[in-house]
Amino acid sequence: MRRIAIYGKGGIGKSTTTSNLSAALVSRGYAVMQIGCDPKADSTRLHTGGKRIPTVLDQLRANQDLALEDLVKQSESGVYCVESGGPLPGVGCAGRGVITAFEQLDELGAYEIIRPDFVLYDVLGDVVCGGFAMPLRGGYAQQVLVVTSGEMMSLYAASNIMTALKNFKSRNYAQFAGLVVNRRDVADEEAIIRRFCEEEQANVVGDIPRSPEVQICDEQGKLCARRFPKSPASLAYQRLADYVESLPEAK
Ligand code: ADP
Ligand code: SF4
Ligand code: MG
Repeated sequence: MRRIAIYGKGGIGKSTTTSNLSAALVSRGYAVMQIGCDPKADSTRLHTGGKRIPTVLDQLRANQDLALEDLVKQSESGVYCVESGGPLPGVGCAGRGVITAFEQLDELGAYEIIRPDFVLYDVLGDVVCGGFAMPLRGGYAQQVLVVTSGEMMSLYAASNIMTALKNFKSRNYAQFAGLVVNRRDVADEEAIIRRFCEEEQANVVGDIPRSPEVQICDEQGKLCARRFPKSPASLAYQRLADYVESLPEAK
């Protein structure tokens, strides 16, 4: 089982990238679990025709006695979908909520029963506070992909996430596994990213073009990887899947 977290600024394209990556991996015969770790709880909507699945935290609030089927929904695309959800607005720690959701999955034996080959955590990275860094520290994610464009704010978030990972390095926590560029087609994007990589000693492991097909699919609640499998974006998701497939199995 490989457990990979996908971090990045809100709105940068984490959920879109993660969902299409999940779909690409499923098409290769892998069992994939995608866990949305964003209070927005829309990570998995492209697997479910735009519909949202109930979140772990919402269900826990309503009923303490949950079964695995309440938390994990297998989509028609074949992906095991989970949304951690968030606390009620203004109450509690969102990062802590994510961990509560993980603990609930552990308790119900999700990994032993489903036996996923890949677990993809789709995590908000605007603040890399103690709460949202928990998936990196708690032994959950083993490798981390950081999604960014050439826009300053997304590079700023990417840099913060990478700093957190450097701080954890000596403690055997999750490791940086590369940068996924999700292009916004801003001026000089190529050069900006190249400079960022030199400064941060980062490597680009995925390069997704800005794509009208992705946007059509977003409106329709569909996966570009399935709806337009030959589009430039889908080919880029496949190349990202090649890379993710090559990552070492965690101990
Ligand atoms: P995040 O999960 O990081 O908040 P989303 O995956 O929800 O971001 O994406 C935000 C918006 O950007 C969505 O409308 C999505 O369709 C769009 N988007 C993401 N990647 C691309 C792309 N490569 N080309 C065009 N639009 C994209
Ligand atoms: Fe929010 Fe992070 Fe503080 Fe938790 S640790 S309350 S997620 S800022
Ligand atoms: Mg998202």
